[in-house]
Amino acid sequence: MEKYNRVYNFSAGPAVLPVEVLEKARDEMLNYQNTGMSVMEMSHRSKVYDNIIKEAETDLRDLLSIPQNYKVLFLQGGASLQFSMVPINLLKNGTADYIVTGQWAKKAYQEAQKYGKINKVATSEDKTFSYIPDCSNLDISPDADYVYICENNTIYGTKFHQLPNTKGKDLVSDMSSCFLSEPVDVTKYGLIFAGVQKNVGPAGVQIVIIREDLIREDLPSWCPTMLKYKTHADNDSLYNTPPAYGIYICGLVFKWLKKIGGLSVMKEINEKKAQILYDFLDNSKLFKGTTEKSSRSIMNVPFVTGNEDLDKKFIQEASSNSLVQLKGHRTVGGMRASLYNAMPQEGVIKLVEFMKKFEQENS
Ligand SMILES: *Cc1c(COP(=O)(O)O)cnc(C)c1O
Repeated sequence: MEKYNRVYNFSAGPAVLPVEVLEKARDEMLNYQNTGMSVMEMSHRSKVYDNIIKEAETDLRDLLSIPQNYKVLFLQGGASLQFSMVPINLLKNGTADYIVTGQWAKKAYQEAQKYGKINKVATSEDKTFSYIPDCSNLDISPDADYVYICENNTIYGTKFHQLPNTKGKDLVSDMSSCFLSEPVDVTKYGLIFAGVQKNVGPAGVQIVIIREDLIREDLPSWCPTMLKYKTHADNDSLYNTPPAYGIYICGLVFKWLKKIGGLSVMKEINEKKAQILYDFLDNSKLFKGTTEKSSRSIMNVPFVTGNEDLDKKFIQEASSNSLVQLKGHRTVGGMRASLYNAMPQEGVIKLVEFMKKFEQENS
């Protein structure tokens, strides 16, 4: 880290990327594999670029063991565009059930209202989204086309540790802030989507993993061509110019993940990092975690001192010690440390050391 004078960046997104990946991108910046040009400058129809996007897909399929009957799409428009694309493409009966566990799930729920009868079947809004509700026996609509969750709640720091019982309905999951943080059984989902700027790459790329039978042709005639999964699936994500450079960086991150041993190794590393911070929070007299223990995320960890002025002071002093972007979301207040894949354990140790020192000086 010292080599480049980098900080420990706890941002919720866009977020920290592996130094090795940035170095590789730097080394290949001006002349990618003897093409005499940068990946940014090359035709997305060229053979070289075709290899880049195909290899990215192959590596992602390896990492997540994605079955053959699922398509992988590299799209644009942010995770937020999926809040529209999911209902537009998946509503057939016109009904879907949403579990609202945070701002992002709520936004998705509100957006979907435009396209059908959308039910809120569970929520944790009563306690500022600080927990995941029991979803083992929900009142799932008999004609629901899908059940929707936001699997890791970036703002509130909660995560589904058990998937909801959808009673046979297809599960749709917004995995933006936990994508590739651990192994996932893709067969349990109808559709997974993730904005990559949290845990995987630069903003501008959107990954959708969709079971093939959910890719429909018979969509309403008003549906824009670009908003049909079918358009992108039929053209291997090259219907129009894809976010080409971003996909290249994602590909480098996939290779980095494979090199460290894949997602089960990544999960162990992530759990260890989160444990260091949670152990400290559970024993601190000054700092407190804001979520229910059984719902804790290992990616996003919100915490407070209970005193707004002290929170401010902490954020400021941490920042002068190269521990940056620790300000919590305005609806929770306090602090939030995002511990994505690329955050080294050393960064978490430094953060906890600093918190200990701050606690001593301020109590
Ligand atoms: C950041 C985030 C979004 C929104 O992503 P955009 O790419 O900015 O649209 C949606 N869902 C979750 C879980 C997020 O963390």
